[in-house]
Amino acid sequence: MSMFEDIPVDVGVVYEGERIRGKEMQFEFGGPNIEQKFELVQARDMKEITDGKVIIDGPDLKDLEEGKSYPIGILVEAAGKEIEKDLEAVLERRVHEFINFVEGFMHLNQRYDLWMRLSKGSYKKGFNTLEYLGKVLIRLYKSEFPIIEKIQITFITDPKKVSGWYKKALDIYEARDARARGMKDEDVEEFYGCVLCQSFAPSHVCIITPQRISLCGAINWFDARAAARVDPKGPNFLVPKGELLDDVHGEYSGANEVAKQRSLGEVERVWLYSMFGHPHTSCGCFEAIAFYIPEVDGVGVVDRGYEGTAVNGLAFSTMANQTGGGKQVEGFNGIAIEYMRSPRFLQADRGWNRVVWLPSNVKEKVLDAIPEELKDKVATEKDVTNTAELKQFLKEKGHPVVEQWPAEVEAEAEVVAEAGYEGVPSEYSFQLPAGIPVGVPGEGFQLVFKNVKIKADKLIIRRKEETKRK
Ligand code: SF4
Repeated sequence: MSMFEDIPVDVGVVYEGERIRGKEMQFEFGGPNIEQKFELVQARDMKEITDGKVIIDGPDLKDLEEGKSYPIGILVEAAGKEIEKDLEAVLERRVHEFINFVEGFMHLNQRYDLWMRLSKGSYKKGFNTLEYLGKVLIRLYKSEFPIIEKIQITFITDPKKVSGWYKKALDIYEARDARARGMKDEDVEEFYGCVLCQSFAPSHVCIITPQRISLCGAINWFDARAAARVDPKGPNFLVPKGELLDDVHGEYSGANEVAKQRSLGEVERVWLYSMFGHPHTSCGCFEAIAFYIPEVDGVGVVDRGYEGTAVNGLAFSTMANQTGGGKQVEGFNGIAIEYMRSPRFLQADRGWNRVVWLPSNVKEKVLDAIPEELKDKVATEKDVTNTAELKQFLKEKGHPVVEQWPAEVEAEAEVVAEAGYEGVPSEYSFQLPAGIPVGVPGEGFQLVFKNVKIKADKLIIRRKEETKRK
């Protein structure tokens, strides 16, 4: 008899990655339309909880209106001799995986960003109470983590109660993140890795160091270490540092080897602290995207919650499509907001000295991490709406990127190709259908590429007369 015989829909790995579009959803919890939502795992004493209990605090699924969005809080309380505080974050990250095992249930993101949808099909099959979801979670947690001796799950759907818990949850996340602050990569003997997101992004490997939290922002070095200790065959594992090959870019022979092995050869080198060259892979769970802005040779960061278009004219979702999937994409890097607090934040790319644009809410969140002299030099959507205005703003404020312009903006950002020039800097490669010529009439020419990502094995630019001579 299946472990999920009494659940009205199927449960299994096969449903991971299932997407439920707006038209197919019965209703949704969290997501961009709902400000307050959270998921939280708490370690408890054995006496504090009742094993197997599911509590629904507020309206249940059958009470909700079709097509609407609702607030939610998921509280998982676990107890056992080996269940310790350090494991909370890692257990919490599995909420995402386990809910996605349910046919017709989609779970995206994590912590205060969670977004869940139930399909009309699964609702019609009888999945009309959160009791079912609680039972699935309890059984999966117990089978995956034998160290859990007791587990109790509460779904909070009453908006006032979600609101009360929400602040508490944010404080708990902050306390977890603060723990790793101040620690340095050189203080530890080894790093840790995570491949939980390979079901969505097959070549993605998170390398987690004290100074680089995972890009979902949910697992720091302590969390990954605790998980690797209790479940060494699970998605978290030890990454030997090996030889330090490049301190500025953050390249370690051990991290390279593990990335290569775990990505099945897709990723050969990882620069932990750069978004160019060999950047860290990005799955799809990143809290934010760092993106290169060629017009000003600067870096912008846009977070998942930002509505509208960023200063480069692209929405978060558009950039997420080209950043994610487990690839190494130069100029686009999935990151956690907490990583912006790291002294090694994009250090090989000049770190904060290169950051020119942030959404105002992100700027507010990380204000204490921005160097004092740059605080008023980083623009937000309240200051500028496009790159032309941004350029002006940076000039007026005397942002450090401006000093680089004569050398870099003209030579790199606008890829000015003089006649007779063959090849382009390694940061710029071109992707055009085979056999399509690129020609510009007149004497000499200029190619200007903006907001494009192009790849080609070779680019040859010749004078027309030279071509005729051949
Ligand atoms: S983003 Fe990284 S750390 Fe977070 S769950 Fe995915 S693989 Fe693990």
